Amino acid sequence: MTPTTKTGMLDRLLKDGIPATVEALSHEETLALTDEVCAHNYHPIPVVITRGEGAEVWDKEGNRYYDMVGCYSALAHGHRNYAVMKAALEQMQRVTLTSRAVYTAEMAVFLAALCEFCDAEMALPMNSGTEAVETAIKLARKWAHTVKGVPRGKAEIIAAEGNFHGRSIAIVSFSTEDQYHEGFEPLTPGFSIVPFGDAPAIERAITPNTAAVLLEPIQAEGGIIVPPPGYLAEVRRICTERNVLLIWDEVQTGFSRTGRRFAWQWEDAKPDMMALGKALGGGLYPVSAVVGRRDVLGVFQPGDHGSTFGGNPLACAVGLAALMEMLRHRLDERAEELGAVLREGLQPLVGDQVKEVRGKGLLVGVEFHASAGTARDRIPKLLDRGILTKDTHQQTLRFAPPLTISREQLDDAIRRIREALA
Ligand code: PLP
Repeated sequence: MTPTTKTGMLDRLLKDGIPATVEALSHEETLALTDEVCAHNYHPIPVVITRGEGAEVWDKEGNRYYDMVGCYSALAHGHRNYAVMKAALEQMQRVTLTSRAVYTAEMAVFLAALCEFCDAEMALPMNSGTEAVETAIKLARKWAHTVKGVPRGKAEIIAAEGNFHGRSIAIVSFSTEDQYHEGFEPLTPGFSIVPFGDAPAIERAITPNTAAVLLEPIQAEGGIIVPPPGYLAEVRRICTERNVLLIWDEVQTGFSRTGRRFAWQWEDAKPDMMALGKALGGGLYPVSAVVGRRDVLGVFQPGDHGSTFGGNPLACAVGLAALMEMLRHRLDERAEELGAVLREGLQPLVGDQVKEVRGKGLLVGVEFHASAGTARDRIPKLLDRGILTKDTHQQTLRFAPPLTISREQLDDAIRRIREALA
């Protein structure tokens, strides 16, 4: 491995200190150094962000943007939310990292609050969304083998075409996006795929060995795909009738993003387990969790699963502040109201270039006709107008601003988007 000889980084850091070294890197140097030393698993927009405040970010040259990527829904509270930062700073003055070898009151209070917020009986804290989904998969398999009576090694999980649940080997094994699993074989067996939005297909796919149905209530990475009305409730009905666990992956749609605390609440579709992440970290710190029924989470025995950082006191303090902010500021109501404004504001774009504007709450997709070029082609024009956003799935631009964005900011952002996409 070549050290960063090009820059002599360690010497520079020792001489100038961290802030000055970071500050001194120009736009071009930041791009070049990142390309040199970071594996190329992303294709970032060529913008170097130096500061964030609420719904806005600034780049090296001082240009201001509305952050409509919103860290893929993780920035529900906006950049540097004061209450979340204050809770973190206060916690940092006591204790931040303990391991699960001991108890902390922070974790007890956090999980009690989280269960109440989610109408769940038990929770298990993790760090990333991927880990939350992995944890739910393990719980479902163990539940099937030890409670449902599925023969060992035979548990199956049904997922949907176009799913996105993270990047671990088990999870990419049932991704229908070829790039996500090609070259990473051998893949994990035990998953079957049905079309998204088709409840009868789930009913047909269930076998005596089916442990769970794992779905996003709205496929976000898949292109902001909202299933037909009645789908969520129908999936719930089928799972109950066939003794199959229903797991909603609310990592991206959860915590007020779609105008409800959780997207499944748009219908009568309460899950047996939910995977949570992103916004639970208050825009500050990775915090994720699985929540659900006691008889499902209860199948884990000491040693079955774990995480060094999962449930650390700092994460719990941040998660608690994130929940409280969400309640205090009724972020679900804001998302519903402002989401309608955003969709209505972008609707006039539908025509020669734009095929559809869709979404729920402040999770909005603008899909371009295949003949009109890709969504990524539009990013430079949007940047020129002070809008930072990203394509999802070739033809669709995603708009997921912080839920704390003001009405004035949103109106201004809509005007800029319309100019850029006209
Ligand atoms: N599940 C869903 C629905 C997601 O959208 C994502 C990330 O975008 C994940 C899981 C994975 O979360 P993380 O990137 O925090 O591991």
